[in-house]
Amino acid sequence: MVNLVVTGSIGLDSIRTPFGSVKDILGGAAVYSSIGASFFTNPGIVSVVGEDFPQEHIEILKKKNISLEGLKVMPGKTFRWNGYYEYDMNQAHTLNTELNVFEKFFPEMPDKYKKAEYLYLANISPELQLQVLEELSPKLVGIDTMNFWIENSRKKLLEVIKRCNILFINDAEARELFETPSLVKAGKKVIDMGLHAVVIKKGEHGSLLFTNGKIFSAPGYPLETIVDPTGAGDTFAGGVMGYIAKTKDFSDDNIRKAIIYGSALASFDVEDFSLGKLMNISIEDIEKRYGLFKDIVSF
Ligand code: AMP
Repeated sequence: MVNLVVTGSIGLDSIRTPFGSVKDILGGAAVYSSIGASFFTNPGIVSVVGEDFPQEHIEILKKKNISLEGLKVMPGKTFRWNGYYEYDMNQAHTLNTELNVFEKFFPEMPDKYKKAEYLYLANISPELQLQVLEELSPKLVGIDTMNFWIENSRKKLLEVIKRCNILFINDAEARELFETPSLVKAGKKVIDMGLHAVVIKKGEHGSLLFTNGKIFSAPGYPLETIVDPTGAGDTFAGGVMGYIAKTKDFSDDNIRKAIIYGSALASFDVEDFSLGKLMNISIEDIEKRYGLFKDIVSF
């Protein structure tokens, strides 16, 4: 049974960091977030790829027991993202975004997904996020977005955010979307829109959780080796949603725990390009790093 439906981009990324360049590697928000969630629950993807999408990438997702019944293969090219990072890796610089098959994709919900109680709308067009949301009646809906959609579909984006329960957004994008330099003000605006929680991601500096009147600050895991931060935000949010789906508990205390699990997962993601590291860790590795987080904040 699929317990967490994940929609979002699946694509081929070309990335340059100070430590190397890669071309057309497996990426996309739905990939990283469903891999993150797969450590805790059974995710099912709703997305699309073109006929050029390599079969070996499909096998990677299958290895993690991610359901692909909602993944369509359409004539045309797969989504592509081309970007780079400088030594400050908190900021991704987009060179090119090709939506390709996403321009004509209309989601269909497999029967196996229809009873899922949790939904994660990972980064993709707000139109598609809304279409998927309308197909299901989940208990809890998480959503992420990025500057591309804030700048191109602001109105639709705010419409879909309003219908969700947890917003994941990075600091620069929260400032842009809510037109304020203050993350606290941005957080309050989201809660005033009626959401249960908002998680503002601050890259290597961790994240802030705002719920009704309460703030929690999670650190980033202090890493010596950072190779490529692509997908860290998605892996983080997938881990948070996966842990909530597993525990069926969205109390403040449990969301805080979920955030530390998500942070532990994201810290593994950045240690290699693509899924290089995430495919080689176990739940024991995640538990170990979760324990180290406790140490870091103990005083
Ligand atoms: P992040 O977790 O923010 O680093 O997300 C990285 C992933 O987002 C990459 O693997 C990209 O393929 C994907 N991506 C980049 N631009 C977009 C976009 N406009 N819509 C959806 N996904 C995107």
